[in-house]
Amino acid sequence: MLIESKIGILGGGQLCRMLCMAGASWNLNIKVMDSKECPASSVCNELVVGNITEYQDVLDFGRTVDVLTLEIENVNIEALEQLEKEGVKIFPKAHTLRIIQDKGLQKQFYKNNSIPSSEFKLFSTKLELEEFLSTQKTFVPFVQKSRIGGYDGRGVELIKSPDDFFKILDCPSLIEDLVEIDKELSVIIAKNPSEQISYYPAALMKFDQQTNLVNTVITPSQINNETEQKAQELAINIVNQLDFVGILSVEMFLTKTGQLLVNEIAPRTHNSGHHTIEGAVTSQFEQQLRAILDLPLGDTSFLKPAGMLNIVGKVGDQNKINIKDLQELLKIPNIHLHLYGKKESRPGRKMGHITVLGESIEEIEALFKKLNNELSKTSSK
Ligand code: ADP
Repeated sequence: MLIESKIGILGGGQLCRMLCMAGASWNLNIKVMDSKECPASSVCNELVVGNITEYQDVLDFGRTVDVLTLEIENVNIEALEQLEKEGVKIFPKAHTLRIIQDKGLQKQFYKNNSIPSSEFKLFSTKLELEEFLSTQKTFVPFVQKSRIGGYDGRGVELIKSPDDFFKILDCPSLIEDLVEIDKELSVIIAKNPSEQISYYPAALMKFDQQTNLVNTVITPSQINNETEQKAQELAINIVNQLDFVGILSVEMFLTKTGQLLVNEIAPRTHNSGHHTIEGAVTSQFEQQLRAILDLPLGDTSFLKPAGMLNIVGKVGDQNKINIKDLQELLKIPNIHLHLYGKKESRPGRKMGHITVLGESIEEIEALFKKLNNELSKTSSK
């Protein structure tokens, strides 16, 4: 029975913290590997200090658990492959992580499986890309993405004109067409080993133009039924073609011409699903646990329109954000505050989030305004 298993999680950031909190409701036994003061350290059953990208650390950790999952894709895959051979249940499976970890292989996977995504080319170095650009002057504008290790907008450069060439990254990368985006959407989908599939309605993500970070998320996403259905079909197709087990976040672009393109996938819970904690019957974190333990997947319907606003470190912020600094904000009714317990704030660092429920999108957007106003007065000196 997987439910009696010792569960291991690679990475102890905020996603793991919320996963542990969901696990605590069911009295599950959860062990985490990350650094000593990571956000999950205060809520997991056991913390093992180690480096999730190191073969030996992951192998040693994995050998002490029955089921292994993760909160970040940048982990040592060779160790996971060895652990699978030794009988540890790993969800998502190592061979699917190998594809997802590398944005180049991800794009190749979309192409091979006729999943719509923008056109791309792969390059090994900056020099190779510059040589290509010197012969293909018409290729601008484009987006360059580091194949490995990028997240939260890091490792992504929007090259709109030759004036932006100085931004070009020197690493194995892909370049793809710059999409004229109408909306950025995400569909979070889960599949358990018994092959039950369940997905949330699409969420609408709005990004900060400067930092490329998710600013707010709203469900329902205000797209028409046909697009909603297409987005769900794409997510199901990806999960099936990939042989994926666990929880998968599928980020998509709805273009100005009404086309749906897959941007990228993440083999874990996602910032665009935080509002499922209070907004949906089953949170994305509980759903991940249900999926990896081969339990029946939970109901993904939303109780009401729901939104999420990230609390991000501002310029000048230093220490952690304290609840005592947020007392005025807590006077706003119908909000749910989550702080991640990070010891230091830095500009652009995700420090927490707030979920709001409302009767309408307008009500949620009005609440976002109020919250932004309060947050702008708060600093974490
Ligand atoms: P990350 O792994 O950091 O989330 P993404 O691939 O999601 O990186 O890119 C971050 C953001 O950059 C996207 O949410 C989108 O706003 C913008 N972006 C990425 N790819 C494209 C593209 N091909 N065309 C236009 N904008 C893009």
